Amino acid sequence: MLEIRSIQKTFGSQTALDAIDLKIEEGEFFSLLGPSGCGKSTLLRLLAGLESATSGEIYWKGQRIDQLPARLRPFNMVFQKYALFPHLSVAENVAFGLQLKKVALAEIRSRVDEALALVNLQGFEDRKPETLSGGQQQRVALARALVNRPSIVLLDEPLGALDQKLREKMQADLRLLQKRLGLTFIFVTHDQEEAMILSDRIAVMNAGRLEQVATPRELFENPSSLFSARFIGGRNELSGRAIAGGFEMAGRTLEGISRCQELSQRGAGASVCAFVRPEMLRVSGMSEGANALSGRIVQILFRGSKSEVMIETAEGVSLRSMMDPSEASSLRVGSEVALQFAPHDTHLFWAGPQ
Ligand code: ADP
Ligand code: MG
Repeated sequence: MLEIRSIQKTFGSQTALDAIDLKIEEGEFFSLLGPSGCGKSTLLRLLAGLESATSGEIYWKGQRIDQLPARLRPFNMVFQKYALFPHLSVAENVAFGLQLKKVALAEIRSRVDEALALVNLQGFEDRKPETLSGGQQQRVALARALVNRPSIVLLDEPLGALDQKLREKMQADLRLLQKRLGLTFIFVTHDQEEAMILSDRIAVMNAGRLEQVATPRELFENPSSLFSARFIGGRNELSGRAIAGGFEMAGRTLEGISRCQELSQRGAGASVCAFVRPEMLRVSGMSEGANALSGRIVQILFRGSKSEVMIETAEGVSLRSMMDPSEASSLRVGSEVALQFAPHDTHLFWAGPQ
């Protein structure tokens, strides 16, 4: 297990990482997800030993490692900019680190072969990086990390420079490789969909802090804060006030809605946001019952496996519902509908100081 305890990192007066506590299991595909500047790369660089923490400790299998130099840590890093040596061949690029470590020539050769086979680049040994596609260059960068047989591979937005199609292919390949080798991957991305597809668990980061650490499904179904809810998946939001047992907006109430931790520490009357995913917002032609608002359908978009129905509520709020196209086919633009906010699918968050 990798254990990060109370890591703090400041650059001058700026706090890049604030009291980070995190445990990552061996064999996990773990992602750090968050907007640009939230501290993802800094955390990865601290793990790699390319940067030192202002305070805090890092343990790997019970041993403290944060005072070890980078080359003695069981980690290897893969960057978005592949940082391949242009004048060296593919095989020489992959062999470079082992040569520095004075590994015997025969062993270098067999490990380079093994690493290139892992990333499906047999036959590319003598090519120069400039003759390779972006995806192939990224595979070389990955092979260069794997050749060291690291316990943990640290990947900083490794697919960021690839076009969408190639990116999807590399996502699938990365995940297969990681599971097959049983490696621990710590993967940095600002792309929520990528993090959801790949990860066993995700840490959502916000301004140097961990906002929520959970499985993709847990993040989708039970976000612990408004930031986390907004960062992953689609959203519908209603602004209103907390009341005993629920939510109130312009005289309408929604009841029995689960409250986030942060909110339960604040009293009734606090400014809140009622949050529901488009996939969870039910639309029906019937007159509204409990926990429903009335609205009018303004647009229906066919998206292949789903239809997206856009509704404007009587209060003037725009909401979206994702449903099966067969279900949407009975709905008409302009018709009045009821929007059902199921208590277990609707979350109440504190909207923050306003
Ligand atoms: P991310 O990878 O999530 O985009 P970073 O970890 O690169 O974010 O940066 C986190 C914060 O720390 C940013 O505000 C950035 O400007 C600052 N930062 C990172 N590295 C340095 C550095 N070497 N010197 C000064 N500030 C830095
Ligand atoms: Mg970064």
